Amino acid sequence: MTVRTRIAPSPTGFPHIGTIYQVLIDFAFARKAGGKFILRLEDTDRARFVEGAEDVIYSSLAWFSLNPDESPKIGGPFAPYRQSERLPIYKKYSDELIAKGHAYYCFCTRERLEEMRKNQEAHHLPPMYDKTCLKLTPTDVKAKLDAGVPHVVRMNVPVHEKIAFDDLVSGHIEFDSDVIDHQVIMKSDGFPTYHFGVVVDDHLMEITHVFRGKEWISSTPKHVLLYQYFGWKMPVHGHLPLILNEDGKGKLSKRHGHASVDYYRKLGYLPEAVLNYLSNIVWNHPEGKEIYDLDEFIKRFDVEKITSQGPRFDLKKLDWVNGQYIRALTDDALQTRVSEFDERVSRADAKLVAKTMPLVKERMHVLSDYWSLASFFFTKPDSFETPLRKDMLSGLYETLTPVDWKHEPMEQSIRQLAEKNSWKPKDVFMQLRLAVTGKTVGPPLLESLEILGKEETLIRLSVELDSHYPSFEEKIVGKKP
Ligand code: GLU
Repeated sequence: MTVRTRIAPSPTGFPHIGTIYQVLIDFAFARKAGGKFILRLEDTDRARFVEGAEDVIYSSLAWFSLNPDESPKIGGPFAPYRQSERLPIYKKYSDELIAKGHAYYCFCTRERLEEMRKNQEAHHLPPMYDKTCLKLTPTDVKAKLDAGVPHVVRMNVPVHEKIAFDDLVSGHIEFDSDVIDHQVIMKSDGFPTYHFGVVVDDHLMEITHVFRGKEWISSTPKHVLLYQYFGWKMPVHGHLPLILNEDGKGKLSKRHGHASVDYYRKLGYLPEAVLNYLSNIVWNHPEGKEIYDLDEFIKRFDVEKITSQGPRFDLKKLDWVNGQYIRALTDDALQTRVSEFDERVSRADAKLVAKTMPLVKERMHVLSDYWSLASFFFTKPDSFETPLRKDMLSGLYETLTPVDWKHEPMEQSIRQLAEKNSWKPKDVFMQLRLAVTGKTVGPPLLESLEILGKEETLIRLSVELDSHYPSFEEKIVGKKP
């Protein structure tokens, strides 16, 4: 048996980070078993369809290097992989279920169904189809079909039956068939619903293992029934714990920017670090390691050891992991990554970027940090996070003008300046940082100034004095480098 796993996203926008975590499990499980990982597009909900979302799915998977072996884009032996292109297949199988009595036509209008629902609500009954059309005679059905009355197809659920399945992650699960609705399997527009499409396609595409979020577990009994009706072997199912918000309350919601894969790409996370983080939150490395690559995960991972509790998404921890990956890169490799990520860096003087890399690297969590920490090496600051102090700036200008441009003598003279004026040294260093970088935090200051050079440092001090304190211009005139 060749292991075949699949991800079956709907093209409704940027993939959720939870989808990537599922892909990671699908991918790792298939690779470990020497099997295949498939991407099928579940695009049957036309109302939620988002133009371009399919491409974003491909590019997101490619970014994480989790490319499928078969997909709508690259094809494969079970094409087509877009459900909207498989409508005749669903029709054939739905006809088969109708013929066997496991499904039936339903002609109820929207108004009737709404009224039914209101009634159920008023009587505190669960919202379920009341099986009206199940009572239609074959002659009634034929007459309505011949008259072209709009209809859907519903599955016929047995009464008082136990429906059970063994879940790879959550163990043995049982449902009472009486709580299962007579689910629509074919909509009036000829499209299948999720429940029907997923079963037909997982079977026809020879999927052996279905991993999906726990939110789908209540759908699974319907799928179990459909497999039974067709007499098909059901793939092994594993319902994965959902990634929760940081406070542990609820699924990581789209309200949070970081639920979307886009967030990680835009801020410059390293995809390999995000994958490492995602694997860490649902699985413990047998040696307690926190940092390991995808190959190691594939080798060591055991799906049965996945935590059944929903892990919390902790951005700070992810930043830590990402920082570890950044620091594990050579300076050259990091420069390449940052330049690919940020056009401003790719346009900057590469030699200067190379000089700054060792200083900035230590303080980076994500690639976008480079420019916010290091832009001052390339451009003068145009704003200042806290107010500048004229007295300290002019003192610094005069003190630094004659100094040998190495960080030790610079430090010594700044300390002397502070002592002479009874200033706190840290305040003086902060003024220097502010005037030169515009920021209150950044890479080690004096080492940075060594790279920036004396001339530029003094220009920045004097320009700031000029523009903030015009009267100072006269005082330092002639001293400008
Ligand atoms: N189309 C479903 C989704 O959007 C697939 C669920 C499943 O994996 O069965 O997630």
